[in-house]
Amino acid sequence: MEKALKACPFCGGKAELKQAHYLESELPYSYVHCMNNECALHHNTAHFSGESEQKNAQNAVTAWNQREQIPVPH
Ligand SMILES: [Zn+2]
Repeated sequence: MEKALKACPFCGGKAELKQAHYLESELPYSYVHCMNNECALHHNTAHFSGESEQKNAQNAVTAWNQREQIPVPH
C-alpha cells in the first residue's frame, strides 16, 4: 500500500509516514513529515483523516509526493 516517499522539498531530508489519533474524537489521522527536526516540515504538515487508516495514510503519502497541501513557511 505504501509508496516510497520523496525527500523533503525544503531540506532534502528523509520523510516518514506517521499515524495517530485526535485526542478529542479519537479519529485516526495520518501525515507525512520530514525527519529533520530542525526543518519547518517536521512539525508543520497537513493531516489526513475521515477515512480508514489505510486510506488516510495513502492520501498523506500521495499528497506529500505530489507536493500538495504542504504548508509554506512564513
Ligand atoms: Zn525537511
